[in-house]
Amino acid sequence: MKLPKIRELIEAIKALIQGPYTSKFPKEPHVAHPNFRGQPKFNDQKCVGCLACEAVCPVYAIAHKDEIDENGKAKRTMIHYTDTCIFCGECEAACIANHEGIKLSNDWDLAFFDRKESYETIEKELQLCEICKAPIACKDHLKWISERIGELEYSSPTLYLSGLNNMGVIDENMMTALKDFGRSDRVKMLCARCRRETTLTTK
Ligand code: SF4
Ligand code: SF4
Repeated sequence: MKLPKIRELIEAIKALIQGPYTSKFPKEPHVAHPNFRGQPKFNDQKCVGCLACEAVCPVYAIAHKDEIDENGKAKRTMIHYTDTCIFCGECEAACIANHEGIKLSNDWDLAFFDRKESYETIEKELQLCEICKAPIACKDHLKWISERIGELEYSSPTLYLSGLNNMGVIDENMMTALKDFGRSDRVKMLCARCRRETTLTTK
């Protein structure tokens, strides 16, 4: 007969005294270890909608959708697909918002009955180009850039108009009025293509 090793005997005695290592899930909720790498969660207060996490995700578990409603309001929906994610943490490592826009959680109970429940979303407001209406970036992302480059933001009408609008110094009506002046096409929030075209135009 093969005798148990000392280590196995110690473990068996410990289990008798302390109880089993396994939890009684699903009868009782299971609390994961603090270092457990569970599904990442977006933080809509911290995320600026820059798409860096989408670019680095190795399995395409992050995607986005840009939409404009009938009133001209535009939003970016950030989507995380739980059933595709491999919990590698690359998104958190690449997040420009101090790694807090998306973070691994210790949420491990990911079972679902309906595949439609297998993703999570947050929404961010988008800034559109005033000429062609293409998305430039999320408004929070423009603010994030302005905060980092300081006074250099005044070299870009898109950034300083966005900053003045955020501060409440100008509003949508004043921005509309700016459009009536002759050279005002350059003093607008523009996408890269329209910025280039208005800069090069001889009109
Ligand atoms: S943890 Fe990895 S796989 Fe999951 S969303 Fe982030 S980058 Fe993609
Ligand atoms: S701020 Fe972070 S979480 Fe938000 S889109 Fe950028 S990288 Fe992703």
